[in-house]
Amino acid sequence: MKYYDKLIFDLSKAGRQGYSLPSRTWDATLADLPAGLTRSEAPALPQVSELDVVRHYTNLSQMNFGVDSGFYPLGSCTMKYNPKINEEIAAMPAFAGIHPLQPSETVQGVLRVYKELAHALSSITGMAEFTLNPFAGAHGELTGLMIIRQYHLSRGDVKRTRVIVPDSAHGTNPASAAVCGLEIVQVKSKENGLVDVEDLKPLLDDTIAGIMMTNPNTLGLFEKDIKEIAALVHECGGLLYYDGANMNPLIGMVRPGDMGFDVLHLNLHKSFSTPHGGGGPGAGPVGVAAHLVPYLPVPKVVEDEDGLLSVVDADGQACGQISGFMGNFGVLLRAYTYILMLGKQNVRMVGPLAVLGANYIKESLKDCYKLPIESVCKHEFVFDGLLDQSTGVTTLDIAKRLLDYGFHAPTIYFPLLFHQAIMIEPTETESKETLDGFIEIMRHIAAEAIADPESLKTAPHTTPVRRLDETTAARQPVLRFCDMQ
Ligand SMILES: *Cc1c(COP(=O)(O)O)cnc(C)c1O
Repeated sequence: MKYYDKLIFDLSKAGRQGYSLPSRTWDATLADLPAGLTRSEAPALPQVSELDVVRHYTNLSQMNFGVDSGFYPLGSCTMKYNPKINEEIAAMPAFAGIHPLQPSETVQGVLRVYKELAHALSSITGMAEFTLNPFAGAHGELTGLMIIRQYHLSRGDVKRTRVIVPDSAHGTNPASAAVCGLEIVQVKSKENGLVDVEDLKPLLDDTIAGIMMTNPNTLGLFEKDIKEIAALVHECGGLLYYDGANMNPLIGMVRPGDMGFDVLHLNLHKSFSTPHGGGGPGAGPVGVAAHLVPYLPVPKVVEDEDGLLSVVDADGQACGQISGFMGNFGVLLRAYTYILMLGKQNVRMVGPLAVLGANYIKESLKDCYKLPIESVCKHEFVFDGLLDQSTGVTTLDIAKRLLDYGFHAPTIYFPLLFHQAIMIEPTETESKETLDGFIEIMRHIAAEAIADPESLKTAPHTTPVRRLDETTAARQPVLRFCDMQ
């Protein structure tokens, strides 16, 4: 164990401190606090110098893995690089120092960014208008479904309480529908991984509020029948919801609005480069076609004839309010910067490069790993474990072994359609050399599985902690120093 693997509490020495403040002048006011709110004892914090704190956090940060430390092919998550200029812009005092309750005349620039980002996202997706308020993809899904429900209710169409979700959908889709109070109806996929149109047809009636789809779907496959599906769902009076978390391969090439979708959300923390991991912060803006614009949630940013922007808090037609203020502005700024830095020309390169990288890895590894669906993929694809499964080496073993070689593991055991699923998404921000390095290691691991399966079953060997009991870690997390004693 390295010296600084010690817990900061163990470095504590009574009286040591990392700051010095002028002597106290506020004792008098302390007496004014209600008795129940004052402490009788000092809090049990570690007493350490500034240098101890710096080393503690620097060492902790190095025990972690991030896009800034290595290749992160986590399928379905689009872990692309977040250029540092995004951080510089987000940290500018003019943006970082504002308060959400400031009068709108004092934050015209900020409201302009809100409007312009909404406009850029509308152009990229082919929608009429956006709200940037939702905080995450799933939050966007809920917002979109509330808009759909409000649309039906406003027409007196009260029977539409069921929403169709494909069996390949991301887990948040049925969850959001349930949170919205809608009943979930599942539609099956065919052998080739695409939604079965014949299975869909009998589900369509006047109780259907809409269908939620992602395209490409969670297998990374383009739903070729989308135009027919859109026509069928619209014919029965339902709306089409597009889960745009998989928008990356389509950016600059194909627009969901043109496929017939009425509502969508985007994951700025996936497709638009803003950092994510560890649960946030994120942004899940929602775009709508023209007939749904009135139902967007409040607050809304509106512009008067003189170009003055203001915030509208109440609007009878809106589906409601889904966030305290107007979204995670720091995340919105990063996405806006990312789009402006690429410019119109280069935005078009994002999708094709992401697709090329995924297909390159797939074709380079399919003689070692089982490829259940052969067709050309979009931004990601799924292997179903090793081709030779006689060694007993599982997908979990492969994922853990990759950590020893300095790569983050792909997504594993998702989607649920395959028992040994390994879902790989390289994103367009990786060089061919990095992809080649990953391919080489994946081939090496496949060879190790035959020559030395034990080294895989006991992996990882070089990480700060070895193989964890992930279920207990998730169900009974130990979050306090005192509990560890
Ligand atoms: C990531 C993802 C989501 C959920 O997004 P969050 O921001 O994690 O809530 C929804 N659908 C798909 C297809 C995704 O990949």
